[in-house]
Amino acid sequence: MKVWLFDYDLTLYGDEERYVINSLDHRISLFVQKTVGGDFESAHRIRTDYLEKFGTTLAGLMAMNGTDPDEFFDFIHEPEYLTYPKNAPEKLALLQGLQGPRYVFTNGRHDWSEAGMAHMGIAPAIDGVFDLKMMDWVGKPHESAYEKMERWLARVWPERCGAMPGWECSMPANKRDIVLLEDSLRNLEPAHRRGWTTVLVNPNVEAPAWVDFHIPHLMNLRDILPVVSS
Ligand SMILES: [Mg+2]
Repeated sequence: MKVWLFDYDLTLYGDEERYVINSLDHRISLFVQKTVGGDFESAHRIRTDYLEKFGTTLAGLMAMNGTDPDEFFDFIHEPEYLTYPKNAPEKLALLQGLQGPRYVFTNGRHDWSEAGMAHMGIAPAIDGVFDLKMMDWVGKPHESAYEKMERWLARVWPERCGAMPGWECSMPANKRDIVLLEDSLRNLEPAHRRGWTTVLVNPNVEAPAWVDFHIPHLMNLRDILPVVSS
């Protein structure tokens, strides 16, 4: 049995709906501007700089400006400023067809992906969200995020699974059975080092040799499913 882990942004909804992450990005730049002062342009530069040095804007804000992460997410997740992905019944069907538990593994706070999944209509296919807060605000690609994910899986899956007769309820001893779908190569790398199966979901980059599978869009999971599942 596989355990399916999905990144949310630009993975569960794809490159064709980039305006979704753009709406959030705009709010993030506004938050940076509100925090550091100055104009929108310089806030955007600081953002890019934080992203490079700390992995995420939030990590930079926490380290350099003492930002409270919940305050950051409360501001950027204000629904009235945001755009969400389109309803996607074909994705619901695809996800529901996967054998094994399915979780979201996201560097956002859970309310962002939950709202998006509600818009897409795929929430019934997802067993839970492992979010940045559960990683103690230190997200992918930090090694600790993947360690915490594994520990969480080992705890949460047997509990849920106990109610489903006939299911194999212990977590896979073989880490190859943890399958991570991600648009970010940087976030896939630690998963690869841990022995997870890696699926790059991104139409815009070349996959290095260590990537197990490369698909342009989530829906293409259908094409590789027999091989990934075996
Ligand atoms: Mg992503």
